[in-house]
Amino acid sequence: MTDAGLLIDSQGRVLRDLRVSITDRCNFRCLYCLPETEAAHNFYRGHWAHLPNPAPIVQQWVPRAHILSFEEIERFIRLAVSLGIQKVRLTGGEPLLRHDVENLVSRIARIPGLTDLAMTSNGFLFPQKARALRAAGLRRVSFSLDSLARDNFRKITGRDGLDEVLASINLAQELGLHPVKVNAVVIRGLNDHEIEALADFAHERSLCLRFIEFMPLDSARAWLKELVVPGREVLARLQARFDLQPVPADNPSSTAKRWAFPGGRGELGIIAPVSEPFCGHCNRIRLTADGKIRTCLFSVTEHDLRSRLRGTAADEEIAGWLKSVVWQKEARHHIGEPDFVPPPRSMSCIGG
Ligand code: SAM
Ligand code: SF4
Repeated sequence: MTDAGLLIDSQGRVLRDLRVSITDRCNFRCLYCLPETEAAHNFYRGHWAHLPNPAPIVQQWVPRAHILSFEEIERFIRLAVSLGIQKVRLTGGEPLLRHDVENLVSRIARIPGLTDLAMTSNGFLFPQKARALRAAGLRRVSFSLDSLARDNFRKITGRDGLDEVLASINLAQELGLHPVKVNAVVIRGLNDHEIEALADFAHERSLCLRFIEFMPLDSARAWLKELVVPGREVLARLQARFDLQPVPADNPSSTAKRWAFPGGRGELGIIAPVSEPFCGHCNRIRLTADGKIRTCLFSVTEHDLRSRLRGTAADEEIAGWLKSVVWQKEARHHIGEPDFVPPPRSMSCIGG
């Protein structure tokens, strides 16, 4: 494929990775994403001397008629793959809440040229869907797991679901959805005391554990810099516990700095978008459940694909439009700077 046929932005970055949010609904209320629980309010109240500014996002669920159909999602992914996209990750909201999600997976898995099809899930419903997803062609799955302590898990997610998520991790390994990744968002004073326990768990179970810095993408706009545990602090603690060996990045756009546990049993990754931004290598775009293209997690502008898919535009026309949208991809985010403007929608709507 010549460069002319690729999705390239004005910084020269070639986009290869597409995140597709298939629903904005969720059965969890994570404190860093949809902090609507009493426990979340209590946690943040302890840190805020004054009301958050800007005001919290008023969570409005996307009307059903605006949610892209499987046909629309498949059409767009085929088009994106013809423009050089190689990896697709289904996300949400909670993607397993989307009815008949395995049907969508099987449609996408058949697209020629797509080299990687993965999903990010909170894991609660995975045991019910796992075999159908595997048979449909899902190759990899990442689960969110921020705590191994039942009470803290419930405080963080708003749901008493630790057993289900642990069962999901086992099942994904049994089904060969390799490597099984586990994402943990670390928040100071909430779960930072569990960093070593989570790493021990990953080592014992040969998992790929990713520690992620807390980003200002929660619907309450309650994020505070003081709550972010910098990736280098997490790493220093784990280097004191394990003889970690660096793993070379398999591609320059990898968001995680990776380390192998002793004996090659499992892997550790540090994703530090706040303290060590990796925007210069970002090769991602996102499609929201209601059909908007986002060129950055922190975009304040969205580009309307849905009206094009539902209008008379031919694939060639949409391809030309997508190239012009991608060209405008933001050079970098501005978290922590005076000019930072948070995106108008929370992570659950954007698709993490
Ligand atoms: N519901 C699924 C899940 O939780 O895995 C998929 C969607 S969720 C938005 C995708 C990822 O975003 C999860 O790994 C979650 O931990 C992460 N996430 C959500 N809010 C975040 C925040 N404010 N900062 C950092 N990561 C966040
Ligand atoms: Fe938690 Fe994911 Fe749901 Fe957000 S979308 S509340 S991170 S489970």
